[in-house]
This record gives sequence, C-alpha cells and structure tokens, in this order.
Amino acid sequence: MYSISNKISLGKQASVTKNNFSNDEIIPSAVVKFTCCDCGHENVVEIKPYETGFPVFQLFHEDKVLSKNELLENRLVSETPKNMIHFGELTVNNLPTLYFGTSCISCHSKYICVFSYGEKQPGLTLLTISGIWKYN
Ligand SMILES: [Zn+2]
Repeated sequence: MYSISNKISLGKQASVTKNNFSNDEIIPSAVVKFTCCDCGHENVVEIKPYETGFPVFQLFHEDKVLSKNELLENRLVSETPKNMIHFGELTVNNLPTLYFGTSCISCHSKYICVFSYGEKQPGLTLLTISGIWKYN
C-alpha cells in the first residue's frame, strides 16, 4: 500500500466481495478482497484502523491526483453535509475518509481504494469501502 502523488486517470472499478464492515469485523483489521479487472486474480488487502491509508484530501488538493469532479462523478466520495464538514469536504458515509494505492499481485495493474472509518453512533464503528478502481 502506498500514497499517490501524481495525476492519475481512473479506469474500471474492480469487484469487491464485501464493502461494509462493523465493530468486531474491523479488529484487528478488515480483510478486503477484490478481483483484478485485467487478469481475474483475487487480491486480498488488509485495512488496519488508524494505520492504513492517507487522507483523501491529498488527492484533490490543488487537483494534484484527481479533481473533486472526478472523485464525485465516479462516486469515490460524496459531498459532506455542512453539519458534518469537520470530517472533510468529500467523504464516504460522512465519516473520515482515506485512500491508498495497491497493485494486483499477479499482473501488477494499479488500483486505488477509497474507504472511511469511524464511529457512526455510540457503539457502532463502521468501515465502508466506496470502491477499488483501476488507474493509469
Ligand atoms: Zn491482475
């Protein structure tokens, strides 16, 4: 897993076996499986709360990696309602939102994963994968 600092163009969305994790399913990590669009290999990535990922803000700051429009149109994120803006301008499920880059271990195609993690309400912690997209 790595951060992305150059402009990218989004490709196809990979299929992910499970997008929503809650409470115990996230301890010690959420195990996410996605199928490579190019070679069909099933890849496994582990998301560890407070360790995995980089703020999604870094992607659209000065349109460095992707513009806000690209993020919204491709549904990587949504606009956050004003009363929850402290979680960030663009979020998944109105919770703190992160991303990371990864690649298919079989054919080395590159992917970006966007997810959010946080306490939705007392006693309910959620991790939501908005999706995993191929990029160039
Ligand atoms: Zn592949």
